[in-house]
Amino acid sequence: MRIAGADVIVTCPGRNFVTLEITTDDGLVGYGDATLNGRELAVASYLRDHVVPLLADRDAHRIEDTWQYLYRGAYWRRGPVTMAAIAAVDVALWDIKAQAAGMPLYQLLGGASRTGIMAYGHASGRDLPELLDSVRARRDEGFRSIRVQSGVPGLETIYGISAAPDPTGGRGYEPAGRHPRPAEETWDTRAYLRHLPTVFEAVRNEFGPELPLLHDVHHRLTPIQAATLGKALEPYDLFWMEDCTPAENQEGLRLVRRHTTTPLAIGEVFNTVFDYQTLIREQLIDYVRSAVTHTGGITPMRKLFDYAALYQVKSGIHGPTDISPVGMAAGLHLDLAIHNFGIQEFMPHTAETYEVFRRSYTFSDGYVHPGETPGIGVTVDKEAAAKFEYRPAYLPVNRLTDGTVHDW
Ligand SMILES: [Mg+2]
Repeated sequence: MRIAGADVIVTCPGRNFVTLEITTDDGLVGYGDATLNGRELAVASYLRDHVVPLLADRDAHRIEDTWQYLYRGAYWRRGPVTMAAIAAVDVALWDIKAQAAGMPLYQLLGGASRTGIMAYGHASGRDLPELLDSVRARRDEGFRSIRVQSGVPGLETIYGISAAPDPTGGRGYEPAGRHPRPAEETWDTRAYLRHLPTVFEAVRNEFGPELPLLHDVHHRLTPIQAATLGKALEPYDLFWMEDCTPAENQEGLRLVRRHTTTPLAIGEVFNTVFDYQTLIREQLIDYVRSAVTHTGGITPMRKLFDYAALYQVKSGIHGPTDISPVGMAAGLHLDLAIHNFGIQEFMPHTAETYEVFRRSYTFSDGYVHPGETPGIGVTVDKEAAAKFEYRPAYLPVNRLTDGTVHDW
């Protein structure tokens, strides 16, 4: 089975997505997600100009060989653009191989290790009443684990809380603004550190001790500040504290770990297993946050999770709406197959997005399942995709109250 052609699909059904479509000479079609939020066209060009011309007539079954050819063959390794492009090829080829086998992808990865994939939903509010309503709304939708993000008094906008309410009554998440330049937000670390423990105290008082609660710090703290927060949140028994400090400094997590037993999740901006080497080997984290889309695909993610399993570190695959349904489905097949599954982030996409991406994965009673369709179970309607033209969008930039650029 040879690769007959490949096409890059750029579409904006509510937000931008980049998808690679690979076709084989016996008529199978596979899809891979290559969406890099805010830098989408760089990956589209990497694929169109440098990868698609190399795919023609390759053996579609040789996934490991193609992965190594694209990774080592480029000479310039790693980085989000390269790894998103390679991920798209890798996932499309796994999709094709599983279709050729007549099986859902998870069967080729070893078969199901569980009956369903525990998902967490997002709750958020500008203030406490709005946040408690949002937690109730997620529970009513069936979520059994909930991420909690709250406004901070004195700060107008903040990560995780959008300016406008979403259709389900909460404060939505979509942070990529369609402006010619990134929006700018203001950040005050001391105000956040004072306020957040009071939020978790109130949520625990309202919903009791059982509900697993998560929180995303979004890279904003120094290691000692992260240690302080982790310690302050211990009475509220978090499932995890995410991205507590910028990820480049792996050794910084040693300091956080020495001071708190709050479980730590990290890695949504990582691209390779090398970004995790110290963190996993020294058991400085509890959950791996990588997305299939941004870490080179199924092939390296499987290796990463197997490495993490040696140290009792579990998965927590990144699942925001800027991962397309193709990328989401790829992650769900891994979730179902690996032994060291932890939890899956799950944000439903818009109806417009589902018009372009036809999916067989389902969400029910707090659990997601990739479905039994051969392949990854997502197809792209190219006619529908063509209706939604690309629109430039940027993630916000963050500044301290004195104007200094800070991590967003
Ligand atoms: Mg995050």
